[in-house]
Amino acid sequence: MKYTVSKVFKMNRTGLNLVLQVMPSNLGAYHILGSNMIVANSYLLEHVKNSNSREEYNCYVFTLIVHEYLHSLGIVNEYQVRKMTYKLCLDLFGKDHLTTKFAINPSSAFLLQALNRTSFEDSYILVKNFDDKNQYYIQ
Ligand SMILES: [Zn+2]
Repeated sequence: MKYTVSKVFKMNRTGLNLVLQVMPSNLGAYHILGSNMIVANSYLLEHVKNSNSREEYNCYVFTLIVHEYLHSLGIVNEYQVRKMTYKLCLDLFGKDHLTTKFAINPSSAFLLQALNRTSFEDSYILVKNFDDKNQYYIQ
């Protein structure tokens, strides 16, 4: 993922950490501005994993991580990040690929808007330097 972002946009960074936390269902993930943390909603990850194919789950994780990774490179604008995520997927996979379709319309792709969890859980899992070995998450 890092390699593809740096290839398409000539940008990269190192030492990014991934935190998994159960969060409200309208929140896929976020990047803590100025930090090296991406916090992903493990509630949604579990949901997507359990109710979709392995391929669909991988597409979900890929676009999610690319999106937050672009934020972590300093791109704050939401629309711009979505456009860049779409361009990256288009370049990599072509317009008919599931990942590209998901990049256009993330919330509708897995019927996530039907979920209505509203609370955070206090506990979280820290995945250190996941970008060095992110193959593990994209199974
Ligand atoms: Zn965003």
